[in-house]
Amino acid sequence: MKIHRRHFLAGLAAPMLAQSQESLPPWKPGTLDIHHISTGRGNCTLTIAPDGTVLMIDAGAQMPTEQQLVYYVPAYPDLTRRPGEWMARYAQRHLAKAGLEGIDHLWVTHFHSDHMGECKSDLPQSKKGSWKLTGVMDIAEQLRIGKIVDRGYPNYSYPAPLNDATMMNYQAFAKDSGLKLEAFRSGSNTQLGAVQKPQEFANFEVRNIVANGELWTGQGTATRQTFPSLAGLKPKDYPSENMCSGGIRIRYGAFDYFHGGDLCDGSNYGLPAWRNIESAAARVVGPVDVALASHHGYSDSTAPAVVRALRPRAFIIHSWDSAHPTMPALHNMLSEELYPGPRDIFATALKAEAKVAIRRLNQLKSALGHVVVRVQPGGASYEVLITTNADESDRVTARFGPYQSA
Ligand SMILES: [Zn+2]
Repeated sequence: MKIHRRHFLAGLAAPMLAQSQESLPPWKPGTLDIHHISTGRGNCTLTIAPDGTVLMIDAGAQMPTEQQLVYYVPAYPDLTRRPGEWMARYAQRHLAKAGLEGIDHLWVTHFHSDHMGECKSDLPQSKKGSWKLTGVMDIAEQLRIGKIVDRGYPNYSYPAPLNDATMMNYQAFAKDSGLKLEAFRSGSNTQLGAVQKPQEFANFEVRNIVANGELWTGQGTATRQTFPSLAGLKPKDYPSENMCSGGIRIRYGAFDYFHGGDLCDGSNYGLPAWRNIESAAARVVGPVDVALASHHGYSDSTAPAVVRALRPRAFIIHSWDSAHPTMPALHNMLSEELYPGPRDIFATALKAEAKVAIRRLNQLKSALGHVVVRVQPGGASYEVLITTNADESDRVTARFGPYQSA
């Protein structure tokens, strides 16, 4: 039903370049903002719900070595601050302009450094405790946080104890920061939802879709475990960290957005079908208006089944590596065999070499900058605005839409 409406409305959006020097107008009550922040070092998505509830999704900060830099885009705006400091400042200034303060929910999709902050020995220590400042910890150093939701609290032991340096740093923070933490509850439509004035926006919802393989059924808050018992698996066959990633759907009236962290298809090369958790999640979510390309559009993500199920009008790729996105993922996103009608694709940054290797990257609507989805009050339409990541001016460099929510 939704599919057909989307098909007919798809042609209404006409991309339009803004020539002005205007900076992004502040969020206003009734509007839903979804900012994909481009630091070139990890994922961070800042959402402001219509009632002013602030949800930050991930605060990634990778610290590439000299040798690894060849694969990375530059750090944005520059290297004078850590990625986590830039993200905290981004959130602070946008919230201040909106008359808001602090983050209500910080959700860590999964435990990789490009989503939570890599720990290196030369990073400064927090003034608040024994952990080092990076990613999520940098956010918490600068902003009030109502609660943190992650896939591992309180034991951080699924599918096996998580104890590398980055994870131990996060766990020290989780244990000693005094902040409220909760384990992600698949199926819930309240854990990450509106907490400021929820009664005024009954048509806004954040639905927890999946984490650790536990998948919403689409009925009430019921879930089913898609991963088999670990007792029957060899450790090498355990679900990977990316397969354990969380995913959510944000709904505002007719508008739907899917964010699946680094969900992927771990069933490649003949491995069991339960490992294809990204497709299972996409089927439960169904058609959306805007989708984040899971796992940065890497080769194990954004498969035909995913693209066919989500069929978004706009794809956003959180990208910074020469393999973000890969050619098959991009071709799937562009395929009108998988679903008809136009679609626009926006990336937060692209490596120059990727544009040479993958020619069809020239079809992206934007290849650099923060990607801000701004949904109008009520959810019937939305725009995509690109703002500069070269500095902190938040100057709008391009503007697309309005698109009709389907
Ligand atoms: Zn990632």
